[in-house]
Amino acid sequence: MASVDEVVAGEILPAREAIAILDQVDLGPTIEIPDIPAEADPEFTPSEERERLKKEILRLKTERKAIVLSHNYVHRDIQDVSDAVGDSLFLAREGAKSDADYLIEPSVLFMNQILAAMKKPHQTVLAPDLGALCSLAAHADAGRIREWKNDHPGGLVISYVNTYLDVKAESDYCCASANAAKILEHVLEHSEPDQPILFLPDVFLGYFAAKYIEKRGHSLDRLWLMLGACHVHEAIRPHHVSEQMRLHPDAAVVVHPECGCTSACMRQVNTGLVPNDLLQFRSTQGMVKLVREVPQDTVIMATEVGNLYPMSKAAPEKTLIPASAEAICGFMKQNTLQNLYLSLRNLVHEVTVDPELAERAKIPIERMISIG
Ligand code: SF4
Repeated sequence: MASVDEVVAGEILPAREAIAILDQVDLGPTIEIPDIPAEADPEFTPSEERERLKKEILRLKTERKAIVLSHNYVHRDIQDVSDAVGDSLFLAREGAKSDADYLIEPSVLFMNQILAAMKKPHQTVLAPDLGALCSLAAHADAGRIREWKNDHPGGLVISYVNTYLDVKAESDYCCASANAAKILEHVLEHSEPDQPILFLPDVFLGYFAAKYIEKRGHSLDRLWLMLGACHVHEAIRPHHVSEQMRLHPDAAVVVHPECGCTSACMRQVNTGLVPNDLLQFRSTQGMVKLVREVPQDTVIMATEVGNLYPMSKAAPEKTLIPASAEAICGFMKQNTLQNLYLSLRNLVHEVTVDPELAERAKIPIERMISIG
């Protein structure tokens, strides 16, 4: 049995062993978190200049036959000039549908790579800043996955969308947080009874999916989990949620399953301590939908704080409380109105991918897009 003192980020363990130590691990980032640029703060740029940039972006989009696809976590000014705002699964689907000449995606590199792998021949994918990486994607190493596959012949790999293209190319399926549990169940039901299955890299999402399939009568015997985490979500701990619940006892709570509080929150629901209609788990995009549907006037949200903006647009009458106001992704915040404008004006920075890797990665990505 693995000891919590010995495990390192990116290690692969049998699911039961990973689950046993989940509440004590602190995986942290293995890459440097960039400083947030000053202009990412809306107050930094005078409002007239922000309006001028927005108008220029709208004009350039038409001139360049471009669309802007933004993640929910980027600055609200960027969301306001975007053609679509959503999570990685939603943006992948929007990109695949588009015939625009330029797909500009203020998000992070692993999402840009999906667009670049799936784009039509006439299209160019641009990113406002190529330094927007991801601490979770950095935990997954393609070499380690190949080693696991060598040790487990016939093993199947499900990689979360938050991975780089070389990892997706080693995978049989990709999944997003919205369909992780469903895809894991699909793989269990469409594989041989002794075929090992590796879910990576997010161990909290892996736990969430494992508990879902266990509840539906599946064994965890052949499931393996990678010990990876997003430094932003991992830092949202059970005490953040319980403190907000204490302050707002009538509020609904919605938790992203990448959070460090996922296992504790699930236990509270499963043991009946908290009713399951009061505390729910959703993907980033699922939270935007849920906020409209819950009867409560106040909603506590456990994910990156950028998601408050699309949630507030979906339900302007509700009071939204972040479980942790410090849940800010420095990578996503590398996208600014200024570098989006420059990206459109100068047609930079093109995101290209190795065609051979793209061909292999397309198979699991297409499975993710088509399975629920
Ligand atoms: S919030 Fe976490 S998972 Fe999302 S891009 Fe930032 S570091 Fe990656």
